[in-house]
Amino acid sequence: MEMVFVNTERALTILKENGFKQTKQREKLIDIFLEKDQYMPVKEVLKEFQQDFPSARYDTVYRNLYTLKDLNILESTMFNGEQLFRLHCDTLGHHHHFICTECGKTSPIEVCPMDTVQQSLPGYEISNHKFEVFGLCPGCN
Ligand SMILES: [Zn+2]
Ligand SMILES: [Zn+2]
Ligand SMILES: [Zn+2]
Repeated sequence: MEMVFVNTERALTILKENGFKQTKQREKLIDIFLEKDQYMPVKEVLKEFQQDFPSARYDTVYRNLYTLKDLNILESTMFNGEQLFRLHCDTLGHHHHFICTECGKTSPIEVCPMDTVQQSLPGYEISNHKFEVFGLCPGCN
């Protein structure tokens, strides 16, 4: 399974469709994620962001990241109490992610554990689920 992530064109269309202005700051944020292609903590995004906007504050970047997440341009995950962000995965078909805790690289997992989970919860209706696997990728191991 090859992973497909939201690209610049798609991201700008989503912003427009939802009535958000395409600002230089939002464009820069999307560029940062396109270049890195991995999960990043807010403080790392801020460091990259400040190369173009030296006076940018943590709060501003944080708020913009959440806006982009709400619009499904970015996705986020929690690891070790820290919120990490990356471009939203647009890969078709139901799948989950393996996330490298060292470099933030993401790999698709085509296995879904939900059939087994449903079997152990007879009579319950499951409406949603989230399943992520963390560890070290071959490059970091
Ligand atoms: Zn995916
Ligand atoms: Zn890695
Ligand atoms: Zn699943």
